[in-house]
Amino acid sequence: MLEEYSRFIDEGSLLELQKVAERLRGVKVLHVNSTKLGGGVAEILYRMVPLMNELGIETHWEVIKGDLDFFKVTKKIHNLLHLPGEEKLNHEDVITYMKYTYQNVSYIDTDPFDVIFIHDPQPLGLIVKKKRGQKWIWRCHIDVSTPDEETWKFLEMFVNGYDASIFHIPEFVREGVSIPAFVIPPSIDPLHDKNRELKEDYVHHVFNKFGIDPEKPIVLQVSRFDRLKDPIGVIEAYRIVRRRYECQLVLAGSFASDDPEGEEVYREVLEVKGDDPDVFVLNLPPNSHMEINALQRAATVVVQKSIREGFGLVVSEAMWKGKPVIGSNIGGIRRQIINGVTGYLINSIEGTAFRIKQLLADEKRREEMGRNAHERVKHSFLITRHLKDYLLLVSSLIDGG
Ligand code: UDP
Repeated sequence: MLEEYSRFIDEGSLLELQKVAERLRGVKVLHVNSTKLGGGVAEILYRMVPLMNELGIETHWEVIKGDLDFFKVTKKIHNLLHLPGEEKLNHEDVITYMKYTYQNVSYIDTDPFDVIFIHDPQPLGLIVKKKRGQKWIWRCHIDVSTPDEETWKFLEMFVNGYDASIFHIPEFVREGVSIPAFVIPPSIDPLHDKNRELKEDYVHHVFNKFGIDPEKPIVLQVSRFDRLKDPIGVIEAYRIVRRRYECQLVLAGSFASDDPEGEEVYREVLEVKGDDPDVFVLNLPPNSHMEINALQRAATVVVQKSIREGFGLVVSEAMWKGKPVIGSNIGGIRRQIINGVTGYLINSIEGTAFRIKQLLADEKRREEMGRNAHERVKHSFLITRHLKDYLLLVSSLIDGG
């Protein structure tokens, strides 16, 4: 599998990756997150774990267990970290979080590993199991730059027990965290079914499957059904566009097993869509990688109108496929899109509509931006770079530096 990456990166970079990995032979690594399917973290681990093994580093992946009451609390934490001011964590929430944390402590055996990556806040409490000599890394995938302070204080108790933390972008690094913080942006895998090239026939099959008209321009947003992705805002922008332009809107989404709000948001979106035959709200099984790939390739313009976003892998996925992306001027989206070069950064529904209209009207600009977008991902957001950054960090922690 590794050699196949030489199609996308130069031989020197590949060799570098192998050399760094050689230094880590014998080190056993564990990744822990909260879902096997759905969302960007699972998406990355699905490819990262086998690649690390292929590089000769024994790597395992575990998922914490929890019932609805646990995931309701972790979703509340997720929302509070993004949008302070909502209903705070209460006594019972804390007890529920701790109860499931201790259940997972006995369920997940971290002892045999030298390095443990804990992804996001849900499994953070596992740190109580840390053994002497182990290196524990908290990999934060979300924007914690303006959290509800009480919620952050609760999490910080755990965070400070780690050896290092990793954030997507410098703005997310929390001041006052007493452990070393590193900045490593995430990545997409060009060999994943989600991103590899597809035959035209397959793309047409997907059009037929969902009843999408291949002759009419397509505006696409791919996201879990989550209010922070603002699907309703996208529909409003589309309605402004439709006053002047013929186009279809595709909102492709799914539910993640660790997100109890998905179904409710899905229903809200369906209601707002109403009976517009040009709006497609597709609720896909979480592993519909090739369908998502086809939709991204078929799109005329891709939108990501999130209200908060850790990174937004979907942005790089679409850019890799040569699409101009119109994305909110926030978090990781701002790091991927170069405004006016690979797509546009927007701050409002009206701004989104304006940029969609501009791109629908100008094929040449779309193509040029699409080419730039592909290059940007190739240089900055591929899994090989991401993996090398992880291995260098692990290597420096083990060396004590
Ligand atoms: N995704 C998917 N099916 C869907 C919605 C999303 O496969 O219906 C994938 C998407 O292609 C991307 C990941 O889930 O790889 C979402 O990652 P992102 O960082 O954009 O957002 P998150 O869900 O982690 O907040």
